[in-house]
Amino acid sequence: MSEECAVKKVTDITPEEVARVEEWINTEEYCEKNLAREAVVINPAHACQPLGAELVAHGFEGTLPFVHGSQGCASYYRSALTRHFREPAAAVADSMTEDGAVFGGQNNLHEGLENALKLYKPKMMAIFTSCMPEIIGDDLNAFIINARNAGIVPQDYPIPYANTPSFNGTHINGYDSMLKSVVSYLATDKKVEGKDNGKLNLIPGFDANTGNYREYKRICEEFGIPVNLLADISETFDSPLDGTYRTYPGGTPLEDAADSLNAHATLSMQLHATKETIKWFKSETEAPVEVMPSPIGVANTDAFLMKLSELFGKEVPASLKAERGRLVDAMTDAHQYLHNKKFAIWGDPDFLAGMISFLLEMGAKPYHVICSRGNKKVAKYLQALLDESVYGEGCKLWMNKDLWHLRSLVMTDPVDGLIGSTHGKFIARDANIPHIRLGFPILDRVNLHRVPYIGYQGTMNILTSVANTMLEEVDRTSDDAFFEMMR
Ligand code: SF4
Repeated sequence: MSEECAVKKVTDITPEEVARVEEWINTEEYCEKNLAREAVVINPAHACQPLGAELVAHGFEGTLPFVHGSQGCASYYRSALTRHFREPAAAVADSMTEDGAVFGGQNNLHEGLENALKLYKPKMMAIFTSCMPEIIGDDLNAFIINARNAGIVPQDYPIPYANTPSFNGTHINGYDSMLKSVVSYLATDKKVEGKDNGKLNLIPGFDANTGNYREYKRICEEFGIPVNLLADISETFDSPLDGTYRTYPGGTPLEDAADSLNAHATLSMQLHATKETIKWFKSETEAPVEVMPSPIGVANTDAFLMKLSELFGKEVPASLKAERGRLVDAMTDAHQYLHNKKFAIWGDPDFLAGMISFLLEMGAKPYHVICSRGNKKVAKYLQALLDESVYGEGCKLWMNKDLWHLRSLVMTDPVDGLIGSTHGKFIARDANIPHIRLGFPILDRVNLHRVPYIGYQGTMNILTSVANTMLEEVDRTSDDAFFEMMR
């Protein structure tokens, strides 16, 4: 590039100064300043509320996710889901712009509903909001009633909606609000006194692993328990490539969701991502409604299977007992490679709880635990898990900290491995620490969203991945004398 064309830098920074700062950001002094940072978040380990709401909407039969708000925001949720699953995320937005921000977004919503219904013929539209209409206080309920009264949508056309303001909470709150809205919309007034349809309502929570959904269904099948998996995205985001494009593959049948108050029992697999939904179920049905820890690790999976056994009066099947035995065998084979190894983990509270449990079972240390949005209750819950084991001693819980904080932490107080989403890859590179990709989003590896990490089989998958990554690291860093054929 000629000198005249070169971009003029606002401030000239000498190479020496760049080198000095590069070194300084790895120091204790910088770490202390970084941890004191409050006013800005850098590389958070969470997404915004509407993304969770969109995941729910994709999990129902024939349902079109409908964003009331900005086009750019809608593109973000869609592209995050598409990049993670490598599948199209069919959703629409009513594209509010400046005039909508000033006069309210009712016109946008009405035009959007009319067009979407004609063009994409969904069985249901699930509406949720970006920040802009939340800030100006758009009244979705009134807008939808007005749309019905104006004949834009039929009076009985299903349009559940959720307010998902992202200046409050994260994708797990959006997930919860939208799920409660969809299920309560479809099931209210469908409860039949004395009816028990014999099914289990199973709520996975914000789970972006299609393999996990299939694993839940397989476990229930092994038990012979008919399951109504709510917000089932397993087909939506993992449908076969057979030459036919389907706008709405899979999803929980609307009829099954409508019958959910007549279920034999309801189980949520994520405490923090389903609070409002569970509260609603508890208020509407006398059947058991329970929340279990995510079944990651042996103890959590045992608890899940025992709960199924208790609720449905069925023995744990021999096939699942055998799976447990194989997992325990595999853990015994691998424990020497993980024992006392330190890990940094990040993600949603329920994912963190599961991973803490698994690592402690392996005698490994969840050494830096980063939860980028949480409160005192979440902190207490996670700390109690760490306190249960001797391997939890000295492990640190970092609430409301982000991945730039984590970078400082591993630079000054290193770990042997990082476990979390793709967003941690910059830390892995800077700190030269192996990175096991798990959670959401995974944007830079293929097929991991299909590899389950719940249940005995899923725990086996995590174990294989973590232990082999540690062994790979030994091979990569050992000198010739210790470069062994067998490990
Ligand atoms: S945080 Fe708000 S403005 Fe940002 S993408 Fe999410 S909804 Fe849009």
